Amino acid sequence: MIVQKFGGTSVKSVARIRNVAGIVASAARHDSVVVVVSAMGDTTDYLVKLAGQTSKTPARRELDALLATGEQISVALVAMALNDRGVKAVSMTGAQLGIITESVHTAARIVDIDTARILRRTEEGLVVVAAGFQGATPAGDITTLGRGGSDTTAVALAAALRASICDIFTDVYGVYTADPNLIPTARLLKEISYEEMLEMARVGAQVLHPRAVELARKHRLPVRVRNTFDPQHEGTILKGADQMEISRPVSGVTVARDQARLAILKVPDRPGVAAEVFGALAQQHIGVDMIIQAFHQDQSVNDITFTIKRSDLDTARPLLEQVAARIGAKGILADPDVAKLSIVGAGLMDQPDIAARMFAALGEAAINIKMISTSEIRISCAIAEGDADHAVRVIHDLFHLDEPQNG
Ligand code: ASP
Ligand code: MG
Repeated sequence: MIVQKFGGTSVKSVARIRNVAGIVASAARHDSVVVVVSAMGDTTDYLVKLAGQTSKTPARRELDALLATGEQISVALVAMALNDRGVKAVSMTGAQLGIITESVHTAARIVDIDTARILRRTEEGLVVVAAGFQGATPAGDITTLGRGGSDTTAVALAAALRASICDIFTDVYGVYTADPNLIPTARLLKEISYEEMLEMARVGAQVLHPRAVELARKHRLPVRVRNTFDPQHEGTILKGADQMEISRPVSGVTVARDQARLAILKVPDRPGVAAEVFGALAQQHIGVDMIIQAFHQDQSVNDITFTIKRSDLDTARPLLEQVAARIGAKGILADPDVAKLSIVGAGLMDQPDIAARMFAALGEAAINIKMISTSEIRISCAIAEGDADHAVRVIHDLFHLDEPQNG
């Protein structure tokens, strides 16, 4: 059994749906196949817009009922195209697939998958064409999993069905050492570990949804990213770090643009203040990153600095001003001009000079580092957005990421 997932660009038009049917048909010759599809092209964006034009505050339950129609269109069309090629196929919605979710509309998590109905159909020799991005509550209400959720559907189905692999077909060849639009010499990675991919997905590489990567890691499910328009190509395979043939200090460099930096100054040094600051932001669903608390000359106070998405700045700023006043902090500073540059590599921590070399190269290129944060397999620097492209080039060159012997 294998799962093949096709994203929105892969099913954008009738011609492309026929192309998908061709890929599925050849796989179905030797494997049992479950196909997961997204909505055609920008359909989901269009549906979101339509809801917004109809109501300023659309009920989330109805928003889900609407958004789920996008995938319903594509599954039916893909099943028709397969039938036309003589491949017996049946489309299924989230509820029909047995995907049970929480009742958090527009951001529901999958809690269980009852695979009985899918298995009955695959055992009859049919290809099941599954609607991505959707499920149903135990009470039967339609839910969606959050934007980009079809990847999660594919991995969750593959895990539940104990598929041997989940192929994610998209409009690129896989995961590169850097964005190939920016760095023409960027190299396609043959393999990457779940952990590295997770870091890359979070810091800017848009190939796979982080939730899907997390789920694949949990189940140790092999996931392959492949190009719909060149389906013979091997693409990039995700696997456990211990199963990789090569371990390299740096696998790739990514940049997340549209970030902002906030600092809350001279926060009284007492238990509970950090909880108050970040609790207030969490309540408004503002995600924070690169949190740094640094002590001050005057040891009764600390400065707390962190990054957020630039689009959250207008909400976060007044909120933080209020919190600052309440807890007796000195005030806040906001810097809207931030991009986050990161290097990711499973072998990074084995080579302590990597960080120093990264900082030195940025310094030589006159790129100022505003903040630094690290994880076991990632080093991130906040820099000015205007420096982002240059910085990616400098770092890609520094670690010779264009040379095959490095990965
Ligand atoms: N169609 C949904 C979206 O655009 C789900 C997906 O494409 O993964 O967000
Ligand atoms: Mg989409």
